[in-house]
Order: sequence, then structure tokens, then C-alpha cells
Amino acid sequence: MPAFEEFVRANESYAQSFDAGELPIPPSRQVAVVTCMDARLDPESFLGLDLGDAHVIRNAGGRVSDDALRSLVISQRLLGTNEVVVIHHTGCGMMSFTNDDLREKIRSDLGADASGTDFLPFSELEDSVRDDVEAVRRSELVPDDISVSGAVYEVETGRIREVVSG
Ligand code: ZN
Repeated sequence: MPAFEEFVRANESYAQSFDAGELPIPPSRQVAVVTCMDARLDPESFLGLDLGDAHVIRNAGGRVSDDALRSLVISQRLLGTNEVVVIHHTGCGMMSFTNDDLREKIRSDLGADASGTDFLPFSELEDSVRDDVEAVRRSELVPDDISVSGAVYEVETGRIREVVSG
């Protein structure tokens, strides 16, 4: 069965007990989290977030890409968040390839040229957290009074450890 059919079925039971239809748009805890799309990460659970609490911006690696910054600016300027937390994680797939590896695979699989795309892989986990915290702090679209911190989530233990304090 396609995943989507299963989703529709699962959603029926979710919606039966759903009672949070009146939440305001601005996140109640005024925080945005940038983290990886990795299927093993459940940030709402490991950070104790409830529905309506926070923006959780996810992409491959939890990188502060141009598009992640776009979301952060909207989050801050239009929806009142004033804190950013960047969370990368152990065992991240982004440490398993280089731009050249992936560009070559795309050339071989698809015959397409991805030489202009930076997929933002990294080799040093804590450095990548520091780099992305700096990318938020450096952006002229983010004011200086926004608190930005960084952490590593351990897929082995479920724990986060601080890398950069806000
Ligand atoms: Zn990852």
C-alpha cells in the first residue's frame, strides 16, 4: 500500500481526537529550532514541545541555508520568535558524502549537472553547529538581540548536548 493511503487512514484516527484547532499562529514559546530531516529525530518529543509552541525548520543536516534563513526571518519578523536553536546530530548522513560525490551520482543517475548546487555536507559535527550558529548571527536579516544557541542530539542516547550557548 502506498504510504499516502496509510497516512489518510492514520489521519482519520488523529482527527477524531483532535482538539487544538484554535491555536494562534505565533509560536507560544517564541523560539525557532533548525534541525535535520533525519527520520530518527523527533524534535518535538526530545525538546518537550507541544503543538503551537515553536517553529521547527527541518532540512538535510539542519543547515542554516538561504531557505532556512528565509524561514527564520519570517518567524522573527512576522511571528514574534526571538530565539534560535540549531541542532545537528550524531550519525548524520551529511557526513557521509562530499559535494563532488553527489554531483557525480547525479550525473551518472540522471545525466544532470549539479555543479552549481552546494548540498552543504560537513565532516566535523560540532564545527558544523558552530558554523550554522554563526550564519544566523552574521545575517543582516537577523537582529543582534536574537539569542542563538547550538547543540548536538545523540541518536544513540536521545540526549542533546550544548555546543554553543545563546
Ligand atoms: Zn542528519
